[in-house]
Amino acid sequence: MTALTSLAKITKPHVPDQLLLIDGKWIPSVSGKTFETINPATGEVICRVAEGDKADVDLAVAAARRAFESGPWSKMSASHRGRLINRLADLIEKNIHELAALESLDNGKPVGDAIAADLPLVIRAYRYYAGWADKYHGKTIPVEGDFFCYTRHEPVGVVGQIIPWNFPLLMQAWKWGPALATGCTIVLKPAEQTPLSALAVAKLAQEAGFPDGVINVVPGFGPTAGAALSSHMDVDKIAFTGEHTTGQIIMEAAARSNLKRVSLELGGKSPNIVFADADIDAAVEGSWFGLFFNQGQCCCAGSRLFVEESIHDVFVEKMLAKVKAQKVGDPFEQGVTQGPQVSAEQRDRILSFIESGKAEGAKLLSGGGSPGGPGYFIEPTVFTGVEDHMRIARHEIFGPVMNILKFKDIDDVISRGNNSFFGLAAAVWTTDINKALKVSNSLRAGTVWVNCYDVFDAAAPFGGFKMSGIGRELGEYALQMYTEVKTVYMALGR
Ligand code: ADP
Repeated sequence: MTALTSLAKITKPHVPDQLLLIDGKWIPSVSGKTFETINPATGEVICRVAEGDKADVDLAVAAARRAFESGPWSKMSASHRGRLINRLADLIEKNIHELAALESLDNGKPVGDAIAADLPLVIRAYRYYAGWADKYHGKTIPVEGDFFCYTRHEPVGVVGQIIPWNFPLLMQAWKWGPALATGCTIVLKPAEQTPLSALAVAKLAQEAGFPDGVINVVPGFGPTAGAALSSHMDVDKIAFTGEHTTGQIIMEAAARSNLKRVSLELGGKSPNIVFADADIDAAVEGSWFGLFFNQGQCCCAGSRLFVEESIHDVFVEKMLAKVKAQKVGDPFEQGVTQGPQVSAEQRDRILSFIESGKAEGAKLLSGGGSPGGPGYFIEPTVFTGVEDHMRIARHEIFGPVMNILKFKDIDDVISRGNNSFFGLAAAVWTTDINKALKVSNSLRAGTVWVNCYDVFDAAAPFGGFKMSGIGRELGEYALQMYTEVKTVYMALGR
């Protein structure tokens, strides 16, 4: 099915008020409080959502603990777990239009992107981990002496998962896939800006047949519900995606409570390096996508775009033509390539970065403002003459703001590329295999793309060096984050 035929069928959904899912029941919060979730394209309220806090997190964790220790889940075979995950993937596929519409309404991303990019990766992630459920096993080990020694990969237990608003469905899939495949139970706190799609998938998980308490969803705010989850004494692991400063708070809460396991996928300021020998058109296309995709709200955005001096002006000219063709507007309208930012707060934060870029002497070639109106839109913005010390070159902007920096030679650009406290991703554009390999091997980043950008597959790990995170999501590596290894020695002949 092409994105275009799909788009014709998609309309803005009417969403009723939402409850929490705890122990298989849809219930209001203990406090009775609710919060609004907003359509960022209009600033209008979509619906009200039950607001979880510590008391709700306590109930959800108790339900997840019961499900882990004594419910049908605890006795279910690994292959049966895999079948349930596959059934969930089937249901997501069946409801792909409804889920894409909900995601677009709550987050602001063009609905065509949700259909063509987010949902296929979501479905692939669940199917990939469904396959792992009965394949992630231990070893037998030839130890000294008369012992039979083996290891078991056991689920880590009750996991708390805190996800952000930029790819709500995808972040849920990256977290639920490995957790469910390994036999953990879940308490998920979606982002307060985008709780709707997580709740919709939770309904589908019930339909797929996951036992009560295996999956609990508690929408709420970070400093309340999120803090309760990360400091909970009966949560065995916390998995978080979001800002690095929030990651620091969560890791501290985890350490001070019960030393729960922590995996963090945090921010980035990823270098995207274009050499003079690159296919320039491909590099322009890929660098445009690597920055502007998802309204620039990607942790791995190529937000430090280094262009070799000799092709700088040609590259910039081609990039400007591409950026000026961008169509900003209602995410449900056909042909729109850029929707609103997720919230007024994010819009204002991005605008303040743009102001700092101007004040520090970067040259604004395009955009630079908000078109006004009720939604949270930002014009696609391009700066040249950006220097390493500027705020826009050091901090994560998380918006449609491209910073172009010039470089002279390979050693210079490698050292400047690594001059960041982040290390999430990087890219290099060149037709010289030696340059490609030297740069890929020298950059301290969790993912390096060569002559491409933002390529993802459920089978390949993703995560950060340095302050971009701890641990890896996706692939076999993610399973390590959801399991404990148990060693058993059995004396022989006694
Ligand atoms: P952003 O600032 O871009 O919204 P955050 O890192 O603050 O990114 O948010 C990502 C997720 O972290 C959200 O679900 C949010 O509610 C949650 N969060 C924010 N603050 C805390 C906190 N103190 N403890 C736990 N979770 C938090």
